[in-house]
Amino acid sequence: MPQGMIVKALSGYYYVLPDGQAREGDRIQCRARGIFKKRNISPLVGDRVVYGLTENGEGTIDEILPRSTELIRPPVANVELAILVFSVAEPAISLPLLDKFLVHTESAGLETVLVFTKHDLLAAGMVHSDSGFGDIRSLYESIGYPIVTTSAQAGSGLEEIRTRLQGRISVFAGQSGVGKSSLLNALVPELRLETSEISHRLGRGRHTTRHVELIALEPDGWVADTPGFSQLDFMNVEAEQLADCFREFRSYSEGCRFRGCLHQHEPGCKVREAVDADEIASTRYNHYLTFLTEIRDKKRRY
Ligand code: GDP
Ligand code: ZN
Repeated sequence: MPQGMIVKALSGYYYVLPDGQAREGDRIQCRARGIFKKRNISPLVGDRVVYGLTENGEGTIDEILPRSTELIRPPVANVELAILVFSVAEPAISLPLLDKFLVHTESAGLETVLVFTKHDLLAAGMVHSDSGFGDIRSLYESIGYPIVTTSAQAGSGLEEIRTRLQGRISVFAGQSGVGKSSLLNALVPELRLETSEISHRLGRGRHTTRHVELIALEPDGWVADTPGFSQLDFMNVEAEQLADCFREFRSYSEGCRFRGCLHQHEPGCKVREAVDADEIASTRYNHYLTFLTEIRDKKRRY
C-alpha cells in the first residue's frame, strides 16, 4: 500500500503528497475512512499515512502512522520546531504571553526558537532604549532558547531561520501584527501572504475558511500556514506537569523535599530557594504561579 504525507486539509478532504514525489507534484485528494470517526481520531496535516486509490482518481486514508508530536491548535501532526514570533517594536513584547507559548511548546515536545522582528526599528533608534529587549534576550538565552533577530525590511536574520527550518515541519506563532506574514513572505517569496496593512484595507483576514496547509520551503522544510496559535489554553497540561515546562526549574525541582512539590508554599522547595537567590527569574516564577491557578480554575469549572 502506498504511503505519503497529508499536506493540506480543507472541507473534509485531505491532500496527500505521495512518498518519492516532487514536493510541488500532484497531491491525491482523499477522504478519511469511517473507521477513524468511530475511533474518534481525525487525520491531521503533517500525518504520514497509508492510502488507497479509488476508481475516480481520488483516495482514501486507510492508516495513520504513529505521530512524533500532535498539536491541537493549530491542528498539525509531527511538528518538530516552533518559531515564536515577537516584535522589538510594536506590539510590545508580552512576557506572560511568551511564557505561555513556551509552556505550550514544551508540553508538546517541540524545539523552540524565539524570533524578534522589526530589528531595523531598534537599529534606527526608533524604539525606546528601555523597551527591555536586551534583558529579555539575556534571560531567555540563559534558559537555553535560541534567539534570532530579524528584519523583513532589511532581510536580516532570514538565513538563520531558513537553516533551522530545513528537514522538518515547523509552525510559526505570535500575536497579530508582530510580522509573521512579512517574515514568511521574506522566507518564501512566492507565498505572497497579505500583511495586516493590506488585510485591514480590504476589511478581511487572509483566512476566510478554516484550512491548514504545509508550505514547502526549499530545499526540504515544511511550514504550517495557519492563523497560528495566538490564543492558547492549557487543555493538555496538568498542574503536576507545569513546572517541567519551565526548563530552568527542572534541575532544582529534583532537589525539592517532597515528591510532587508544586513549588508554592511547600517546605524545602528548591525552586523557591532558587527564586530567592535570583537564580530563577521572578517573572518566570510568577507566571508559573499564575498559570497554575488558571489550570486549577479550569479544572474546577468542568
Ligand atoms: P502579522 O499580523 O504577524 O502577520 O504581521 P504582518 O506581517 O502583517 O506585519 C504587521 C506590520 O508590521 C505591517 O505593517 C508590516 O509592514 C510591519 N512589519 C513587519 N515586519 C517588519 C520589519 O521587519 N520591520 C518593520 N519596520 N516593519 C515590519
Ligand atoms: Zn518545589
